[in-house]
Amino acid sequence: MDERQNIKELTYEKLSEYLASLGEPQFRAKQIWQWLWQKNVTDFDQMTNLSKKLRHRIKEDFVLNPVTIHSYQQSPTDKTIKYTFEINGGHLIEGVLIPSHSSERVTACISTQVGCPLGCKFCATGTMGLKRNLLAHEIYDHLWLLNEESKKHFGRKLTNVVVMGMGEPLLNLDNVLRALDIVMSPEGLAMSPQRITLSTVGIVKELYRLADLKPRFNLAVSLHSAIDEVRSQIMPVNNSNPLPELVKALRYFYHQTGKRITFEYLMLSGVNDSIKDAKALAEFTRNFPSKINLIEYNETPQSVFRKSTPDRVREFVNYLENRNLVVTLRRSKGSDIAAACGQLVKMTDRNKQLFNFDTLKPKNKNLH
Ligand code: SAH
Ligand code: SF4
Repeated sequence: MDERQNIKELTYEKLSEYLASLGEPQFRAKQIWQWLWQKNVTDFDQMTNLSKKLRHRIKEDFVLNPVTIHSYQQSPTDKTIKYTFEINGGHLIEGVLIPSHSSERVTACISTQVGCPLGCKFCATGTMGLKRNLLAHEIYDHLWLLNEESKKHFGRKLTNVVVMGMGEPLLNLDNVLRALDIVMSPEGLAMSPQRITLSTVGIVKELYRLADLKPRFNLAVSLHSAIDEVRSQIMPVNNSNPLPELVKALRYFYHQTGKRITFEYLMLSGVNDSIKDAKALAEFTRNFPSKINLIEYNETPQSVFRKSTPDRVREFVNYLENRNLVVTLRRSKGSDIAAACGQLVKMTDRNKQLFNFDTLKPKNKNLH
């Protein structure tokens, strides 16, 4: 087995120490850091301002294991592009580029785990189980590639990032935070924290830890029901992280960060879309400054749920708005290619047939 460490797992300090141990000058660490993160080289030989001898030595000690684009498909209707990336070990993860009207805004949706262990009943990723956590550089690298793809397809860099793809970010918090640090840093993608949103089901213990770190990015919580019994039925994680505990943790998060919290709420017909549910939601969200994002459910061939009817959605929205709550309604983009966040799952051939990709572009393996 290859014992060499991935060079991107080194912190800047460790990289500097390593280079100092080779007798290299101090500025070398900065040069290599830029190659690794800003330019995201896929081969040490691309580090052209290093001597051949140094490159050779680095290759003896480290590997790069770059993330590569495996395939992509674009939705003919809303232009959303779903990418499959290959990471070390042959695992496939997914990311999505979502352009807004007129491409003023391009949002990338990124993954944090291969699969997810939490098994929410409405979520396609949940059916996969957890294969493994992504390393920080794997999270960063697929976002970096999406930024390049955004320039190519939409003529502009990413404007927003949502951590809403495969996986539960708070179950891989250290790697997620390290990746986002570099995303926000001028040595990385220099993105503003205000334009980054991390979505979680609300793992209480980790929420406290995150709150203490006072993150500058936004937090979204996948609530989907403000009634404990209902939430536990559709999200097993609610059994060990019940709503009263979640409220306390989120109050603490608000206390620490002063940031308004967004609640995501999938509208599931006959499950969580009655006025009784809206009332519970209104009460829950009054605990802190918040915003409610109602999401249209993407039906999958396997799913047992149906999306709420337009009438139900209207009544639900009216109820909340009449109580002066901030509500937005999100139509799921890219649902025709199963690209919408929350539907990210490695497709089996059977799924591919069921989704009928015939109208879509052929897979392109030669993007890079
Ligand atoms: N694990 C995190 C982040 C990834 S899921 C979380 O659950 O928040 C991202 C979002 O997609 C969540 O709000 C999730 O509830 C939602 N989602 C899952 N399945 C969906 C589906 N079939 N249609 C629409 N949204 C879905
Ligand atoms: Fe995991 Fe989020 Fe899907 Fe639940 S909704 S199974 S936490 S990815």
